[in-house]
Amino acid sequence: MRLRAILGTSTVLLGLPFLAACGSTTGASESSLSSVSVVAAFYPLQYAAQQVGGSAVSVTNLTSPGVEPHDLELSAAQVAEISKADLVLYVKGFQPAVDDAIAQQAADRAIDVTANLTLLAGDDGADPHVWLDPANMSAIGKTIASRLSSIDPAAKSTFTSGSAALTTAMTALTRDYKAALGNCASDKLVVSHDAFGYLAKAFGFTQMGISGLNPEAEPSPARMREIADFVSTNNVSTIYYETLVDPKVAQTLATETGVTAAMLDPLEGLAADSTGDYLSVMKDNLATLKVGQKC
Ligand SMILES: [Zn+2]
Repeated sequence: MRLRAILGTSTVLLGLPFLAACGSTTGASESSLSSVSVVAAFYPLQYAAQQVGGSAVSVTNLTSPGVEPHDLELSAAQVAEISKADLVLYVKGFQPAVDDAIAQQAADRAIDVTANLTLLAGDDGADPHVWLDPANMSAIGKTIASRLSSIDPAAKSTFTSGSAALTTAMTALTRDYKAALGNCASDKLVVSHDAFGYLAKAFGFTQMGISGLNPEAEPSPARMREIADFVSTNNVSTIYYETLVDPKVAQTLATETGVTAAMLDPLEGLAADSTGDYLSVMKDNLATLKVGQKC
């Protein structure tokens, strides 16, 4: 049984210090009894929640830095965290273990952040990689702000201004991308896995993923030949690998086809040693694309 549900608002908890453990979260984020506890399924949702919620929320990320979030497995402690959170943010269909835990523990307190977005078709349902279009991050921020405001009406102005600031940053990022990528020698993005569909659509590229929507899928020799042919037929000059997935396949293909291999980050999570955030990684990606696509 959830104490928070019984007690109502978190304000009640302020008078009950012995319940401190109930509102606390694990991980690096700050938590306090007066903040709304948010569990994010993976990094971009953590970023959006922190930008929108500021100090009025304490955000925990289920996917540790350095871990590839597809097919994440949850510990019992993480499932308990989901059951206690005021709000859980996830992308339905992206992480089956998270979907299951939410269905069982938090169906009434979870938001599938893709619910109001225009989705692209994937292999098996919709393509989940919505966060790589900054416009989607802005929309996700608005969805989060709206829900947080109903959870904690007293902090509504914090959420509204956090969401507005996120939108401003994402609009500027979109403008930078359009300005830098408006005129490129190549519009074909050859990437490690199909994470860049939304980015490609937003900025005029076509994506060719070596291993489909799942980064861990091993491409067949026939698929490798197909990509190699694609690279030479289309005068592709760069094949992109990722931070959280073994770059071997992409690098092998680059060597065999005589093109450059470069790191393009799908931002499914931050690298374990990263000091960046969504915005800085997206700016790094822009610099990489400008060179790789010859813009
Ligand atoms: Zn992915």
